[in-house]
Amino acid sequence: MRLSLPSFRKNQNKGARTALSKKSAKTNTCEVSQDKAFPPFCSKFLLCVLLSISLVLCLQGAPFVAWGDESQDAQETSQAEGNENQDNSQASSQDQSETEDPNNKVYVNQLSDSSFLYETAIADLAEADSYYEGLTVLVKGEVVGDRVNDEFREDTCWITLQDDEENPSVVAVFMTKDQSSVIDTYGQYGKVGTQLQVRGTYHLECSEHQGMSDIHAEEVSALQEGYEQNPAPNMRTFGLAIVACVIGVALMAAYYIKRERML
Ligand SMILES: [Zn+2]
Repeated sequence: MRLSLPSFRKNQNKGARTALSKKSAKTNTCEVSQDKAFPPFCSKFLLCVLLSISLVLCLQGAPFVAWGDESQDAQETSQAEGNENQDNSQASSQDQSETEDPNNKVYVNQLSDSSFLYETAIADLAEADSYYEGLTVLVKGEVVGDRVNDEFREDTCWITLQDDEENPSVVAVFMTKDQSSVIDTYGQYGKVGTQLQVRGTYHLECSEHQGMSDIHAEEVSALQEGYEQNPAPNMRTFGLAIVACVIGVALMAAYYIKRERML
């Protein structure tokens, strides 16, 4: 087909226009597609933000506890390791002291020393025989009664120790007033005395104190403070007393009535 120049130009322009329009349409479609593609991108971004926020929230929750456990475990293990190291160091130091210190050795030829009785029961001392004479004893008991001043030495006194409330045995202890200052309560009705631990020399028949059995204290320490105790009334005894009073009143009334009738 033969076309004239103007018509060719026209056609060319037309083609260019159509191309431009197509291009613009393409760009438009591209823009449109970009506009359409933006919301998914935006939603992905939002999803990512939400996920990261939820991850942060989760990390602030349970995982911290897990980490805490891990750190605790780590601490424990480190402590255990530290203890092991300490033990090892102690053992090594002991080994060193055993090997290096010539004075720290067991003296194998040492004779047995029976002059000390560890934790003697007061009940045993109450039934003591001459074996206990002059032995160093360690007794524990409650301070009962009053402190009695010694008549010869002003700075000394006597106290009484009792071992058991159910089946009480007592022992007299001779001590200085300074030593007795650790006693805060002397046991009596409604009061439980100080629990005392006394280490001293036991005398079955003390030559210094008219042949009485006593302990001359060397070291006195309080184990437990005394306290007040209000014992609850025994309801059985109380009931029996009321019944006895009622019977007594009834018998007295019967006696007076009978005497009136006899007169
Ligand atoms: Zn004595």
